[in-house]
Amino acid sequence: MYMKIGILSVQGAFIEHKNILKKLGVECIEIRQKFHVNMDFDGLILPGGESTVMRKLLYDLDMFNDLKEKILIGLPVMGTCAGAILLSEKIEGEGNVCFGTIPMTIKRNAYGRQLGSFSIDHEIKNIGVFPMRFIRAPYISHVTPRVEILSKVDNKIVGVEYNNQIALSFHPELTEDDRIHKYFLDKCCKFKLK
Ligand code: GLN
Repeated sequence: MYMKIGILSVQGAFIEHKNILKKLGVECIEIRQKFHVNMDFDGLILPGGESTVMRKLLYDLDMFNDLKEKILIGLPVMGTCAGAILLSEKIEGEGNVCFGTIPMTIKRNAYGRQLGSFSIDHEIKNIGVFPMRFIRAPYISHVTPRVEILSKVDNKIVGVEYNNQIALSFHPELTEDDRIHKYFLDKCCKFKLK
């Protein structure tokens, strides 16, 4: 099915998501300015990067309200690493949150300095064993019961799904494995057909 995915492209690792989607034959819109937000797309990706910078740019570029509205009306969204932080309702030790559309608490830079970046092959629900790459990653420290846990590594939650939203601590766009993107596109497809 013909599909168009918006990728928030104000900062961070957006190109990598775009490359995977292109390989899968999906058209992408780089969301850089307000007018991009109002274009028609079937799913939204919030990439890794620096969540505080992205949040500031979302406000400065006046994209915050319109994007949040789209998420709230059910547009499928996948946030990876910093993108997951943008979706979290609470951030440990911080007052400012961004979209806050998933009822969960996230801890930024949760693995400390030494374990700041690591890779592990680990099971994720609905997909199987997946090569997970963590870079100064957050983990999800608390979820409300309606949030589905997709994966836990060392007893820490690193992937969840909540209705139209997927949040991952790691970076599926930094591997050759496109199964998570395909899983997300499947959600986008169902949304489009509704
Ligand atoms: N440490 C970053 C943050 O807190 C996230 C890192 C990443 O996206 N790779 O926003």
